[in-house]
Amino acid sequence: MWPDSASCAAVISFDFDAEEVWIGEDPANADRPGTLSQGTYGAKVAVPAILDMLKRLEITASFFIPGRVAERHPQRVEQIIAAGHEVGHHGYTHTSPTKLGPEGEEAELVKGLEILTSLGATVRGYRSPSWDFSPYTLDLLVKHGFTYSSNLMDDMKPYRHPNHDVVELPVHWTLDDAPHFWFDGASWNKTIRTSAEVRTLWAEEFAGFRNMGGLFMLTMHPQVIGRPGRLLMLEEFLGWVKSHSDVWIATAGEVAAVTP
Ligand SMILES: [Zn+2]
Repeated sequence: MWPDSASCAAVISFDFDAEEVWIGEDPANADRPGTLSQGTYGAKVAVPAILDMLKRLEITASFFIPGRVAERHPQRVEQIIAAGHEVGHHGYTHTSPTKLGPEGEEAELVKGLEILTSLGATVRGYRSPSWDFSPYTLDLLVKHGFTYSSNLMDDMKPYRHPNHDVVELPVHWTLDDAPHFWFDGASWNKTIRTSAEVRTLWAEEFAGFRNMGGLFMLTMHPQVIGRPGRLLMLEEFLGWVKSHSDVWIATAGEVAAVTP
């Protein structure tokens, strides 16, 4: 399935949510600087550090970005593009398409595309802010020229959606940083896992993908993975992933392009 008969493919992806993930959860958060500062860290500290790391590793990644993040942090998006990384759509506001209605969903899709394109991105992929679809999502993706979605958990290999010319690049919570690291300041009912635990989980999955084939899709959030200690783990882990000559590291768009 993969170029050079690789055992599996690996995509290193980041959902660059910045402040929007908190505003999408509760619009009143727009007036809470302390809450928003958790997202500002992603734009201010984490994205530059991640770009430096990817350059050292010589890895090209995929960044999914809400339109309003691009409006608030245009220079960061331009830096991501200038470094050669892929930019994908991640909503305009960070609102699940299931909550928008067909017209609202299309308006978000169009506005997000406009701002990302205006900054120089060529956008082919869509990652929903909730990893979820409405009944209209696939039709809208086809209508607006998207070639792939990266949202569903029903497979570990990319596939084409039936009746829609859209490739699905499957994701999973195991390979997301947020379930392991996200601290819920509202409830305090979840502990923060150590980087060593998460590295172990990701390495186990990586071994499984090399065994079964498929797409190792790492989904991370700059505001989450971008803590100083976690970045040390990530750089070591990605270097280790890269040391396997049978793994094809590519952008999400490149994987979609070779999916039959
Ligand atoms: Zn997000």
